[in-house]
Amino acid sequence: MRILVANDDGIFSPGIKALAFALRELGEVNVVAPDVEQSGVGHSITFRRPLRFKHTASAGFGEVPAYRVDGTPADCVVLGSNLLGRPDLVVSGINIGVNMGLDLTHSGTVAAALEGASLGIPSIAFSLDASGEELRFEEAARHALKIARWVLNNGLPPQTLLNVNFPNRSPRGIRVTRLSTHRYEDSVVERHDPDGRPYYWVAGKPTAELQEGTDFWAVQHGYVSVTPVSLDYTAHGFLERLGNLTEG
Ligand code: MN
Repeated sequence: MRILVANDDGIFSPGIKALAFALRELGEVNVVAPDVEQSGVGHSITFRRPLRFKHTASAGFGEVPAYRVDGTPADCVVLGSNLLGRPDLVVSGINIGVNMGLDLTHSGTVAAALEGASLGIPSIAFSLDASGEELRFEEAARHALKIARWVLNNGLPPQTLLNVNFPNRSPRGIRVTRLSTHRYEDSVVERHDPDGRPYYWVAGKPTAELQEGTDFWAVQHGYVSVTPVSLDYTAHGFLERLGNLTEG
């Protein structure tokens, strides 16, 4: 089995190290990750400038081959899949901080898995709740191994990936969930620079919408959340009603 490990926090993140080491048990692991943090870049692809793909011995991966790319998480998956041989599994993470609900639209972590799925490769995104003081990557990685093994044994449907979020504690178990629909409040913060001119942080806290069965609910209650995510963005439920548009 050939496994490609990417992320959006960058090649020096402890999360990708924990994930890569844990998955060695399943086969040949290659790490391909951005050289600097790319959180929030979503599914960007770099096609207006050349990309570098450099073997990196100094990032602490030991015998696991590791490559850094001066691009996005999706670039890493495209380059890794082409230059190192087509993987049997693409994994991304373990991200520092959860990626749930509408976060998926800007998450670079999830985008790496979306890219893998769009290439037809079973793909999983992993993220860890970072609200505690200590980040329990090793424990999360042990569960990641279990989930990755399940995917290799069972496969995933076409155009489908798994989005996994870990609580930052010993999990009470695994819950299969749907995406929450939480929104962000107070999402723009104004500050002033030393010359008194305003600048802005896009920040904000998610509004707590704790419907049982959602990813948000599961992680808040100490479970590992596993959500199947489809690449099919079509709003199938609305197709028929929208059909009126073509009449008259
Ligand atoms: Mn990140």
